[in-house]
Amino acid sequence: MGLMDGKVVLIFGVANKNSIAWGIAKRLHDEGATIALSYAGDMLEKRVRPLAEEIDCDFVEQCDVTDDSELDALFEKFEARYKRLDTLVHSVAFANRDDLGGRFVDVSREGFKLALDISAYSLIAMAKRAEPLMADGGSILSMTYYASEKVMPKYHVMAVAKAALETITRYLANDLGPKNIRVNAISAGPIKTLAAAGVPGFRLMLKYSEKAAPLRKLVSQDDIGNTALWLASELGSAVTGEVVHVDAGYNILGLTATEDELGSL
Ligand code: NAD
Repeated sequence: MGLMDGKVVLIFGVANKNSIAWGIAKRLHDEGATIALSYAGDMLEKRVRPLAEEIDCDFVEQCDVTDDSELDALFEKFEARYKRLDTLVHSVAFANRDDLGGRFVDVSREGFKLALDISAYSLIAMAKRAEPLMADGGSILSMTYYASEKVMPKYHVMAVAKAALETITRYLANDLGPKNIRVNAISAGPIKTLAAAGVPGFRLMLKYSEKAAPLRKLVSQDDIGNTALWLASELGSAVTGEVVHVDAGYNILGLTATEDELGSL
């Protein structure tokens, strides 16, 4: 018996085997879920299809989350196939490289709109379309990062997008709670992925997090998959509107220097 037996899960954001969304897909599939995947752009199809086969998934559909007609078509196709949805996973983000790094004051209007549209508004657009399919309740998950709460070097426009995503999580949780649809976000520590490679200085961030986090380790796609399982399954049935940190404890620190580093000052 798996914790997700009989559950249907739609996941946005698998780009390759390093994607956080892939860690979630594998974990939920291990617990019995039927997985449907949506990816962005023709270029990714050749990477996503073989992964889908590994988890017995034959619903693999392209969708640009900035395009309402593509979202409508995707959800219509999904409804025709499965009739209902238990868990929706939003693991999607994008910002122009010019709006990461440099100075925050230089973030452009167009870059701001683009990053917020893809990385934050899309959660509202998905939730609106998921709601009618969640007549028996459901769980909606998205992926955020601590840069929404505290300043992280170079994260800039994406930090603002994550702050919006977290607020959207709370407002959706309040809207959809009476229908027993729970909405939560996972705030993951840094993980080496395609999206992360676009953040200037990311390698240093990885090194530093490992050294400073109370658990003295990095988190993995599997760690996020485990938390997603908790939030998607009955285990999380009384949890909504939360931002759950899965970051080896990094976010609790007021001062991130180790005693050794302080001693050498
Ligand atoms: P990833 O590159 O594997 O995933 C990002 C996904 O966003 C890709 O699948 C990409 O195709 C998709 N995407 C971008 N633009 C899109 C669009 N217009 N329409 C549809 N999909 C689009 O990287 P990841 O690190 O697994 O990122 C997944 C989520 O996790 C993102 O929200 C990211 O901000 C978040 N996150 C990542 C880290 C990290 O360190 N990797 C930490 C915290 C949060």
